[in-house]
Amino acid sequence: MMETNEYESGLNMLEELTTNAQQIQDQLMGEILSRNAGTEYLRRFLHGQADKQLFKKNVPIVSYEDIKPYIDRIANGEASSDVLSAETFIGTGTSGGQPKLIPVTAESANRMTMFNALRWSLVLKHVGDIDEAGKRMELMFAKPEVETPCGLKASAVSTRVFKGSSFRAILPKLYTSPFETIFCPDTKQSMYCQLLFGLMQRDEVFMIGSIFASTVLRSIKFFENNWQELCSNIRTGQLSDWITDSGCRNAAASIMKPNSDLADLIENICQCKSWDGIIRKLWPKTKYIGAICTGAMMQYTAELEFYCGGLPLVSGFYGCSEGANGINLEPLCKPSDVSYTFLPNAVYYEFIPIEEESVEMKSNDKDTEPVDLVNVKPGRCYELLVTSSIGLYRYKVGDVLMVTGFHNNTPQFQFVGRQNVSLGVDVERTSESDILKAVTEAKILLDQLGLILTEYTSYGDTSSTPGHYVIFWELKAKEGNNGKELDPKVMEACCFRIEDSLHFTYRMYRKENIIAALEIRIVKQGTFEALMDYFVSRGASLSQYKTPICIKPKAALKILDSRVIAKFFSHKAPTI
Ligand code: AMP
Repeated sequence: MMETNEYESGLNMLEELTTNAQQIQDQLMGEILSRNAGTEYLRRFLHGQADKQLFKKNVPIVSYEDIKPYIDRIANGEASSDVLSAETFIGTGTSGGQPKLIPVTAESANRMTMFNALRWSLVLKHVGDIDEAGKRMELMFAKPEVETPCGLKASAVSTRVFKGSSFRAILPKLYTSPFETIFCPDTKQSMYCQLLFGLMQRDEVFMIGSIFASTVLRSIKFFENNWQELCSNIRTGQLSDWITDSGCRNAAASIMKPNSDLADLIENICQCKSWDGIIRKLWPKTKYIGAICTGAMMQYTAELEFYCGGLPLVSGFYGCSEGANGINLEPLCKPSDVSYTFLPNAVYYEFIPIEEESVEMKSNDKDTEPVDLVNVKPGRCYELLVTSSIGLYRYKVGDVLMVTGFHNNTPQFQFVGRQNVSLGVDVERTSESDILKAVTEAKILLDQLGLILTEYTSYGDTSSTPGHYVIFWELKAKEGNNGKELDPKVMEACCFRIEDSLHFTYRMYRKENIIAALEIRIVKQGTFEALMDYFVSRGASLSQYKTPICIKPKAALKILDSRVIAKFFSHKAPTI
């Protein structure tokens, strides 16, 4: 349990950080430059001087590909202090869908732990009594380390946090998952055991969550397929034979005892006809679901709400492996209203103005100079740049954010989408947020069929001319659906509604037949799970996994296409 003074000092720290944002950012930049001005990378631009003005004038804005050669040299064994940063080693990140090596410092994982404590303070302020805060049933999955060519071990940021001594110290007291289950290399065994331990401690569970909403939903579905077996294990006090991981078995051996009362109770709950609000019934003291539900994760909120029976969905933070950190000061607001307040003490932020939040997301020619954190303007969209002691300088994270206001002197941002994720079959470009908005409009029509859209992704099909957009949908029947079928008329209307909600260029090209009719391909249930398994097998971290809004790899497309059960096309051109 968190001590009252820890909780208060967390809230005080937030006030202090957000009040003195500019000063803290300046000081941070001073520290980064004085430590790293002598590295090969910065010497090229600053000639050894730790000067902020020179930094802004000379250091180029870069993407991952620009600094990859430097990172590769460190991964190949060169001393980081000569190349990028005084104290960097190599970790892995996944932003953008592909696993990649990124520089990290020991400090970055500690910062994350401190950051988590701040988030927790805020949640406690809004949700319930601090003295009643029980355990967190957070589903956590460490990812095996990757070995670099010279034998260095690189791990994902979430894995480094799980390994950190401060996290290990609080784990047994604050979380339901034992350490061994988080580090079990088989994700199915890990998920099974984490659910089992969560059920056994159901009366203590205060929150249920994971980093991203998709993982929470995936766990609920896994539970749906495995609850009888879990109950049988609880009844006998024995783990199923297929759980072969020794860590999981040891953890279970130390706390599992036969408990037929609990098994009966869970069975009763799960046997009821409707699973509406099942989470509340299984874990009656849960106060909220903690998982990122903004951006690409928004698509999971409808289904999560169904299972959660009115529990608030709390998107606590915005973050990425490269170090950007924003915190949600109003944890109870709806996912669509969430803004993240940036913390100025870990990363030096700059923002490239973006003309508007939609369409091609071209930078505004007149006004592309990056601005500092405190100088962003409410209502405007920006692409985020980070500079930090890990050795990234003016680095494009690839995210677009919109300023919604200020807390004290620190801006608050809504997540808009990934900058470079775009769908296109001709010269038009459709951004992630365009697709998100259009699908959100269209899926409302599924209500009349008693269906819920559970997952989707998109693909630009250019195998014939003109090319067309394909949206893959995985659907699920709502309670009381009474076997209603996919009505082609409604599905065609969904295709049309997507097209009609897309940007002007798309609609015009469609009208002129430069783009052919949009297609929705319905895939079998479980398809997106198979897609995730594919990306995880290729190195994505399960804890940090996000379904790509736009599919590019052919192998991933094959997984989707081989599971298509119905196809529908838009029947008329959108309005202009
Ligand atoms: P990773 O590289 O795995 O750390 O993923 C970081 C990326 O996840 C960010 O750059 C965002 O694109 C996305 N992300 C992180 N936090 C949020 C959030 N709160 N809302 C929407 N997307 C997020």
